[in-house]
Amino acid sequence: MASITIRELTKVYPGGVRALDALDLDVAMGEFFALLGPSGCGKTTLLRTVAGLETATAGTIALGDRDVTRLQPGRRDVGMVFQDYALFPHMTVLDNIAYPLRIKKESRSVRHARAAEAVQELGLKGLEQRRPGELSGGQQQRVALARAVVANPRIFLLDEPLSNLDARLRLEARTFLKEFQHRVGVTTVFVTHDQAEALALADRIAVMEAGRIRQIGTPTEVFRRPANLFVASFIGSTPMNLLAGTVQSGTVVVAGTSLPVPDEARGRVQDGQEVVCGVRPEYMDFGTEPVDGAFAGRVSVVENLGGSSLVTLDVDGESVRVVVGEGFEVDSGAEGWALPRPGRVLLYRDGELVTGS
Ligand code: ATP
Repeated sequence: MASITIRELTKVYPGGVRALDALDLDVAMGEFFALLGPSGCGKTTLLRTVAGLETATAGTIALGDRDVTRLQPGRRDVGMVFQDYALFPHMTVLDNIAYPLRIKKESRSVRHARAAEAVQELGLKGLEQRRPGELSGGQQQRVALARAVVANPRIFLLDEPLSNLDARLRLEARTFLKEFQHRVGVTTVFVTHDQAEALALADRIAVMEAGRIRQIGTPTEVFRRPANLFVASFIGSTPMNLLAGTVQSGTVVVAGTSLPVPDEARGRVQDGQEVVCGVRPEYMDFGTEPVDGAFAGRVSVVENLGGSSLVTLDVDGESVRVVVGEGFEVDSGAEGWALPRPGRVLLYRDGELVTGS
């Protein structure tokens, strides 16, 4: 097991695409760490550069206290699981799993014993003699994981580990993966563009944009306190309401109402400054009677989310979304008021969260 220390890592592909831009990252020993971001932000490039499948243009990568920046992939002690699992179709499950040990020139008896252990660990008993084509997607994923653990790597790298599975299997595999990582305890970095997956699985998440990291934090931190407008608009299955406002005598005048300047931002903004108020649809209460400090408007859309509804209010031409709990009936066209809960309003200036820390 090892920590990962990345400093000023830059990757410029031939042709000039700067996929990683002087990126710094620390992953702690034993951590389950997610790289999250929109398509093309450099997640896969970062993973492949740590694995040694891409060479860094500049910067360094250390696993534990060992600088591996210039090492061949096979000498880095890294187990990688690819998005398509990359199993050998002509080999049995057992031979696929034992393959890394063959490359390491381990004896036949060691190969068998270790592969049998991995089969046990990943619940693949009974499937040893099948070929990958005779397995379900979930089983193939487990074989790929088994092949990655069999050589006792110091770190695991998983590229979109769940994206090849259908929705139901994904949930099952997600739970399995989390339980497995905690049991094995190996430092693991996984790439995903699916924020629900990152929030559900990871101890910490790095949100990337254009070859850089925009925020690192626990799932709760990035969800509750996005550090900038990029993260605020990226995280959350229903996007955060982001409303332009102006500071005026201790309040923010925004979308036809005025909200108190959040405690953490008090003394850090001045009258006349333009800011953006961020409040998640989950963190507001909705009613059909006027309330002080609420966004007032007309309901334009009501979407059923299963147990709750997403109500879109048209507030002077701006949309404000609020999640309304079960049992509250409201129709489009009705007048409505959305009141942010205390302590749930975030303030952004020049794109960055205004905080006291
Ligand atoms: P996705 O979620 O779509 O897989 P990503 O965040 O993993 O995206 P990367 O695949 O790392 O992003 O790509 C980062 C940037 O580098 C993109 O602009 C991509 O087009 C470019 N890129 C990736 N691989 C190569 C390559 N082999 N040669 C040239 N450019 C590349």
